[in-house]
Amino acid sequence: MAYVIAEPCVDVKDTACVAVCPVDCIYEFDGENMLYIQPEECIDCDACRPECPVEAIFPLAEVPAQWQSYIAINAEAFERHSVEAAAGDDESDDAAAPAAPGGGGASSAEIEAVKNVLVDVQGKAVAPDAALELLMPLLEKCGVTITDG
Ligand code: SF4
Ligand code: SF4
Repeated sequence: MAYVIAEPCVDVKDTACVAVCPVDCIYEFDGENMLYIQPEECIDCDACRPECPVEAIFPLAEVPAQWQSYIAINAEAFERHSVEAAAGDDESDDAAAPAAPGGGGASSAEIEAVKNVLVDVQGKAVAPDAALELLMPLLEKCGVTITDG
């Protein structure tokens, strides 16, 4: 599953959602009039949805009927831009809004996301309970299983 950005974002693009995404999976591409969520990177944490001033973000299962096409529109944006990047269009002015320091595979992105959450907890930007909710799916993706007891 993944979250989806729909039509209300078009021409708004204030990026409030980008600032809170723990895995930096909300991307802004040059020449595009909205932002997109990378469906394979999104961990369904719900952090972005309440931040959007125009209520453009939905969990996949709750995308309103009139905006169902945005499920594919989000996914296709990444196909389009990865094809352009592979064709070496130009130097990566196509780069995504989030500054992903590691850049590499999924696991390094997730480790980076865990670090970001911990930094936020340390800086008291995120409450421990909320941090735990963010960390659990990330740690699972990193292969760490936490059990009670
Ligand atoms: S649900 Fe979480 S991981 Fe997915 S785009 Fe929103 S903030 Fe990012
Ligand atoms: S917060 Fe909403 S309007 Fe702003 S960029 Fe994100 S999805 Fe678009």
